[in-house]
Amino acid sequence: ICWSENGGWHRPRVQPYGPITLDPAAAVLHYGQEIFEGIKAYRHADGSVHTFRPDRNAARLQRSARRLALPELPTEYFLQSLRELIALDGDWVPSGEDQSLYLRPFMFAKEAFLGVRPAKKVAYYLIASPAGAYFSGGVKPVRIWLSENYARAGKGGTGAAKTGGNYASSLLPQAEAYDKGCDQVVFLDQHRNVEELGGMNVVFVFKDGRVVTPASESILEGITRDSLLQLAEDRGLTVERRPVSLDEWRQGVASGDIVEVFACGTAAVVTPIGALVGEGFEDEQPIGELALSLREELTDIQYGRREDKHGWLLRLS
Ligand code: PMP
Repeated sequence: ICWSENGGWHRPRVQPYGPITLDPAAAVLHYGQEIFEGIKAYRHADGSVHTFRPDRNAARLQRSARRLALPELPTEYFLQSLRELIALDGDWVPSGEDQSLYLRPFMFAKEAFLGVRPAKKVAYYLIASPAGAYFSGGVKPVRIWLSENYARAGKGGTGAAKTGGNYASSLLPQAEAYDKGCDQVVFLDQHRNVEELGGMNVVFVFKDGRVVTPASESILEGITRDSLLQLAEDRGLTVERRPVSLDEWRQGVASGDIVEVFACGTAAVVTPIGALVGEGFEDEQPIGELALSLREELTDIQYGRREDKHGWLLRLS
């Protein structure tokens, strides 16, 4: 679907998957004016297809749009794009344990001009790809590299938006993490508070049962995290969204106050963090049971194996 300053949203259409033609001066190629989302469609045992909290993805896409000076896509158009894609061929959604169809909505500036201003011509697309289990051979704890030299986002920047630039800035730190034998990077803010990984949020579990997750204005508000914290609250656990300093993390683990640390996001759902590695240190992380138990509860809801008490699922077909 296209957008222009004069015409608004127009020309919704389905076209075969293939290359997109862009003018070499298209604004997205030069100024990175683009945003995206990540969401999955799940097949239930009765064959029906559902997606999870798409209203949240629509709202986040709208927040990202505002920050990137792009037009907001109305929620109804967003949901319509998901429905129409699934209606084309329901067989695209695989069945089986941990299988899903990953949906990638994205919007970019396609107006051709060389000058820095918001584009007046924009396109919104939705593509999809089947996704298998994120971890072959079961969920295993990941090693996290502490990025001291690079930030993913800064105060007043685009951290809270899902825009390519944030991921571009995390590529080099991510490559360094691999070099150090780690799977992921954890980013800090300018106050040395923990923010998030390159593509997942972080959650700490304390001995007294509190479940704590970093709050910051430059974090990407994860829908998986929000859902897991809701499930934790349903179990009577106390949930805190507040700044968490690196010192609190390291000292909490050393003293035994923190009994579990995990990361979460749409792609991998939940993964325990097994080690925090930085320049000159390696802190083993305690492995507890909450992460995997919340993971099971959430995936049970997503795959229709457990009651959807919060009304999170939207049936697509
Ligand atoms: N943080 C970042 C930087 C991400 O890219 C993602 C993945 N969208 C998340 C957190 C987790 O968000 P969600 O649970 O909505 O997938």
